[in-house]
Formats: sequence, structure tokens, C-alpha cells
Amino acid sequence: MNPRAVDPGCTRCGLSGTRTQVVPGKGDRGARLVLVGEAPGRDEDLAGQPFVGRAGRILDRALVEAGIDRGPLFITNLVKCRPPGNRRPRPEEALACMPQLEAEIREVRPRAVVLLGLSAAKHVLGREGRIADLASSEHEAVLGGVRVRVFVTYHPAACIYGKDRVHRLAEALRLGAEAAGLI
Ligand code: URA
Repeated sequence: MNPRAVDPGCTRCGLSGTRTQVVPGKGDRGARLVLVGEAPGRDEDLAGQPFVGRAGRILDRALVEAGIDRGPLFITNLVKCRPPGNRRPRPEEALACMPQLEAEIREVRPRAVVLLGLSAAKHVLGREGRIADLASSEHEAVLGGVRVRVFVTYHPAACIYGKDRVHRLAEALRLGAEAAGLI
């Protein structure tokens, strides 16, 4: 990743005062499909990589179910620093971080994006609502100047609250991969 896409010394919001480190996106810089989570958790804050903890293991299970490898993907978060206590990012934090997500998308130039959870859906699509409703149709967005097909689904961490959610997550990943021409 271009080091300018995500600033390792960023102080644009208060999360810079509590994070261990900035967690930029990771993966194939020419990926056709980008996954966007909410924010790093404790494991990610320590490792400096997205989705390496428990939520990452659930994401991996869904990827296996969907028949997709992590290798050709680019995986990132709406907000690049861990909110204390793993609370949801505040609107002003998401707003402050959006230029970094846009810079990642501008660099990777994917065909499709899967938004994992309501925070990403709300701030990328500007849409409120229930995941189940937002997930029922495909969306379109221009992010970082790149027009992308957008799919919304459950955040992996939310999949522990309903048995079928991990299957729905897998289905959205499969739809995103198909739209991106990956499978
Ligand atoms: N949850 C997220 O939204 N992103 C991560 O990287 C880890 C957990």
C-alpha cells in the first residue's frame, strides 16, 4: 500500500490518543473485491493487521463456506484505530477517517465492496436501517472516485448472535466475489 493512503502517525481524531498503532488495510493491492469492517479490535490493535482475532476467525469460516481465499482480497476497516473498549466508532471518527478509506479504494480500484456491519454501511452508503433490509439488495457507490458495486452484510462479530448469520455473511461474500469477477 502506498504509505500515504493510511497515515501511521494520524492524529485526525481522538482515537490516536488511545490506540497502540494505526491498522491499515491488508491484502492484494490489485484486489477486485474489498471487504470493509468497522474498526480494529484489541488483537488487531496489537498486531497492526485487520481481522486477525475472533472476528477474523469467523470471517475466515464464512470465506471457506463461500469458497473464497483471503489471498486475492483487500481487507480493511471504516476506522483505522481501535475505539476504547471496542465501542462503535463515533460519527466524527468515521468522518475523520473516511479520506483514508477513500485513498485505499482509489489505490486498489476494486470492482466490488462488501460492507461488514452497520457502521460501514451507514458511513459508506449514508444509509440507516437494519442489516437484514440493507442486505436484501445490491447497492452502488462512488468511493475515492471509483464506482463500485456494494453488498451489505452482518459484521462477523455479530454472527455469534444467530446461527444462520454466518451463512448469510458467506452468501454476501459469494455475491460480492461474483460481482467482482473473482469466482
Ligand atoms: N472487527 C472489525 O470490524 N475489524 C477488525 O479488523 C476486527 C474486528
